[in-house]
Amino acid sequence: MNESIDKKVYLNGDYLPLTEAKVSVLDRGFLFGDGVYEVIPSYSGHLFRMQDHLDRLQISLGRIRLEFSYDLSKWLEILTPLLDNSKDQYIYLQITRGVAPTRDHAFPEEPVPTVFAMCSDIKPFAGVETGVKALTIEDSRWEMCNVKATTLLANILLRQQAIEQGCAEAILHRNGYVTEGAASNLFAVIDGVLITPEKTNEILPGITRQVILELAENNGVQLSEEIISVEALHTASEIWITSSTREIVPVIELDSKQVGAGVPGPVFKEMNQLFQQYKRSL
Ligand code: PMP
Repeated sequence: MNESIDKKVYLNGDYLPLTEAKVSVLDRGFLFGDGVYEVIPSYSGHLFRMQDHLDRLQISLGRIRLEFSYDLSKWLEILTPLLDNSKDQYIYLQITRGVAPTRDHAFPEEPVPTVFAMCSDIKPFAGVETGVKALTIEDSRWEMCNVKATTLLANILLRQQAIEQGCAEAILHRNGYVTEGAASNLFAVIDGVLITPEKTNEILPGITRQVILELAENNGVQLSEEIISVEALHTASEIWITSSTREIVPVIELDSKQVGAGVPGPVFKEMNQLFQQYKRSL
């Protein structure tokens, strides 16, 4: 069943039915994509790695030079009324540089940020069980991919290109080495070692990625953060893409070629089990 379009959302201090939440056409989020966002999973009403998401939000705000800050307790006060304790959901939260008097690239003198949050159900994703197909595509994004910016046109076009070729995700590369997915981070098992590209300005520092790094370290799974060439990726026995709403998704076909045995691999199964255990332990 579709979620209610009249669910309650948060906008600038008010809780409103979704269909009544409106922003001005002069909002810089609408005109320029001048804003940042977060997607935070909530398992049975518990916001997963909330502090990590807020820290990343603060870094994104700093990088786009938007002065805005709420502490953990303020965010919990805002977001808790949106959550349903009986479900797995995610919060989408967005902060833009707000409404300016005219359409001008230059920052307004005294920006009043627009703050919006809504909660949606996490829909089970069949690809976690079956594995998905992916396509390598040249990364056409900008050089601030470590900012979780609402300006997502390049990501959208790249993902769409993959979808139109029957794939679930575009795996992006620059100068011959892979960065991440269009909306996910990337892991590969190459010569028996789990590898993920290092954190640079060319990838979003995913919270799911961070959790996997911690789980690997605490459970004796050998993991290395290093450059992966497109060539090396094609020799991987396992490839996974990770994100907050889909968690860990195995890639079983890359560029129309089978990855490993063409089914979700053993390292994936181990890590996914550790991830699910960790999630439920919180
Ligand atoms: N990279 C990109 C480009 C993303 O959009 C996302 C989130 N959808 C991620 C990585 C994964 O980040 P997280 O695990 O924090 O959801």
